[in-house]
Amino acid sequence: MLQDEIVKDIQNAVDRRFDTQVDFTAELVGFPSTRGNEATAQDFMAKAMGERGLTVDRWRLNVDDFKHLPGFSPGVIDYDNSFNVVGAWRPENPKGKNLILNGHIDVVPEGPLDMWDSPPYAARRDGDRLYGRGAGDMKAGLVSCLFAYDALAEAGYRPGGNVFVQSVIEEECTGNGALACLARGYRADAAIIPEPSGDTLFSAQTGTIWQQITVKGHPVHASRATEGFNAIKAAYVLIQALEELEAKWNGEKDQHKHHCGHHHPINFNIGKIAGGDWPASVPAWCTFDLRAAIFADDDIHQRARELEDFIQETAAKDRHMSNRPPEIVYQGFMAEGFALSDMENAAEPIFLLGACHEKVYGAALKESVITGTTDARFFGLYANTPGLVYGPRSVDVHGFNEWVDLESVRKSTQAIALFMANWCELEKI
Ligand code: ZN
Repeated sequence: MLQDEIVKDIQNAVDRRFDTQVDFTAELVGFPSTRGNEATAQDFMAKAMGERGLTVDRWRLNVDDFKHLPGFSPGVIDYDNSFNVVGAWRPENPKGKNLILNGHIDVVPEGPLDMWDSPPYAARRDGDRLYGRGAGDMKAGLVSCLFAYDALAEAGYRPGGNVFVQSVIEEECTGNGALACLARGYRADAAIIPEPSGDTLFSAQTGTIWQQITVKGHPVHASRATEGFNAIKAAYVLIQALEELEAKWNGEKDQHKHHCGHHHPINFNIGKIAGGDWPASVPAWCTFDLRAAIFADDDIHQRARELEDFIQETAAKDRHMSNRPPEIVYQGFMAEGFALSDMENAAEPIFLLGACHEKVYGAALKESVITGTTDARFFGLYANTPGLVYGPRSVDVHGFNEWVDLESVRKSTQAIALFMANWCELEKI
């Protein structure tokens, strides 16, 4: 660990710039960067990287560059307006290790506006809380990467190894933004992803499968409904049955070391549904979107088949669906599970992050296992790079009135800056 004096200098540098950091985060929240609409937020990030003297690499995603790579998930929409941005610091005379700081710019849809106390894209500060869609997940964390870098400069240093600040798209539905960074050749000895981890380190995460299921009905006039086949009702049969499979998978948790301590590690979610055309017509179609979790050590293809088989077997028992099997389409996540704690080369960065965290928080770094996915899997599974998910505390992510705890943002920024300083070593400006 660096001398105490340098540690203090770096922490103070974060403090001095913290109001600017909060203002910058609030401005970034102002870009409604839902999937397909990230471009202007990425322009904003690219400009900020350029102003810091980082070499800016901004490119439009091209599915041909990465669709053949492990970890690829089929996209939800095209990439016509989808850009990744990476800001690179490369020292003249490298001496330390290299570091990736990665965050996603995309946010999930805000839902009904009338459920928010204030407009989701007008960030609102209330004491130590910053409200807004994406404030926690994960614009505060993404911004902390830039300001951690700033803190070193403010204290009179530059990293002695490469630092790549990556602002990526599509973490919320495929992870192809992070995959595109790998395909473009970015590599380092460790990666930090400041997702809202609540000041903990994620030691393992579940995988995720998205399937879109369509049931076809037989439309007749509602006055003769018994002669038709109602696709919406049939979809409900499948949705109800899926709860059995979810319970079965949860029942297997004791065979999965990372998740055996969790009361309900596997969550199935019906996140979207649409169907029918007219109140007086028996619906001809119903489509619903399923998100299913899998264990960190599962074979994803086997689990996907298990889901498909279950849906088709359920349909086969139904008088109508047996003649018209549901269609299952893969759109979005085919995300394998990942456990940082299983990586042999993770011990060193975990130890260092723990030491940095303890300096700032005065308490040991806690580890947690999550029941969702993050982009850490790309670094860990496909590049043998420990991907450390570590960031601030946030409440109501993916809900309404999402907020991030600014004190936690300040401290995690300090810890990340200290990690960078130790990992990459320092050169005097
Ligand atoms: Zn996130």
